[in-house]
Amino acid sequence: MRMTEFTEQVSAVSELSPAGELRTVVSPQCVVQENEPLSRRTTLRVGGSADLWVEPATEPDLIAMLQWAGDRGMPVMLLGRGSNLLVRDGGIRGMVICLCQPHFARVEVEGCRVRCGAGARLKAVSNEARNHELAGLEFLEGIPGSVGGALRMNAGAHAGSIFDAVVEVRLLDLHGRVQVMSGAGMEAGYRSCPMLRTHVAVEAVLEGRPEARAAIEQRMKEFNHKRWSSQPAAPSAGCVFKNPDSIPAGRLVEELGLKGARVGGARVSMEHGNFIVTEAGSTAAEVLTLINRIREKARSERGIELETEVQIVGEEADQP
Ligand SMILES: Cc1cc2nc3c(=O)[nH]c(=O)nc-3n(C[C@H](O)[C@H](O)[C@H](O)COP(=O)(O)OP(=O)(O)OC[C@H]3O[C@@H](n4cnc5c(N)ncnc54)[C@H](O)[C@@H]3O)c2cc1C
Repeated sequence: MRMTEFTEQVSAVSELSPAGELRTVVSPQCVVQENEPLSRRTTLRVGGSADLWVEPATEPDLIAMLQWAGDRGMPVMLLGRGSNLLVRDGGIRGMVICLCQPHFARVEVEGCRVRCGAGARLKAVSNEARNHELAGLEFLEGIPGSVGGALRMNAGAHAGSIFDAVVEVRLLDLHGRVQVMSGAGMEAGYRSCPMLRTHVAVEAVLEGRPEARAAIEQRMKEFNHKRWSSQPAAPSAGCVFKNPDSIPAGRLVEELGLKGARVGGARVSMEHGNFIVTEAGSTAAEVLTLINRIREKARSERGIELETEVQIVGEEADQP
């Protein structure tokens, strides 16, 4: 190759946008977009945009994306179904990875075990387990997240948490190196799995126990009824605060007289004190102001330090 040709090629590559550049190293089935609004990717429906939004089609694509970002010192974040996230109004700098393509959404039953991609919906996992007469995963039924998000949060309901059922998890570190860890080895705690702050979950194997389908179905119905008679249907991110040792956070908010409290289009739900719901046009700043108001009142009136369960990410919007 002549030197001028080489120079022309190099300058053609460097003139590509980050999305254009990334597209040259992954398969054409991947989604790669710039400035993706995250309000439509999160259940709270507020917040700014991701600089770079990617949906890898396969694990090698995911590895290539992690390495590409690592080579550029670009921050990386995972987003599942966005049901536990509050994205600030200035959005997210760097790459946001969503494992929503079919390769990552597989749910396969092998005996008493359910192998699920990190992008699989929790509802699909509990339905598939029920269809194969496997009990123990029905508590996942009404949690509107993905397996990856549930592992990161050790999501739970009705006295069960996902790590009660995890046999092993397939992980990638931020350089794309694969590792398989036992569920116990990941040391998950109450609504947290610290290891997944620095690793990407790509697959999990969960274990159920044999039981008749009718009994499992009955429990799923009961759980569903209990959930929808106590939580709002308006946009939210589920429980905002972790429960302190002394009192459930929802009851504390109610006792503080804050049910129905409002900042702009963000409001504490009347149905459940630990939910903040939003109206169309709300901002993340309004939700954050309401969260801070609740925390201040809990501290000053009850001496309780509330910790958020919702993951708060991204940058503040620039002041006008
Ligand atoms: C109406 C409603 C009801 C809810 N009820 C419950 C409930 O009963 N119990 C409960 O525990 N939660 C509940 N939630 C909260 C939420 O659904 C769970 O925390 C869920 O597990 C989050 O999954 P997600 O895919 O939406 O994760 P996201 O919100 O997208 O992400 C949550 C965290 O997980 C990380 N993450 C996502 N995917 C991966 C991955 N593959 N590898 C590593 N990290 C990853 C993200 O970076 C982020 O830090 C509720 C939410 C709503 C809106």
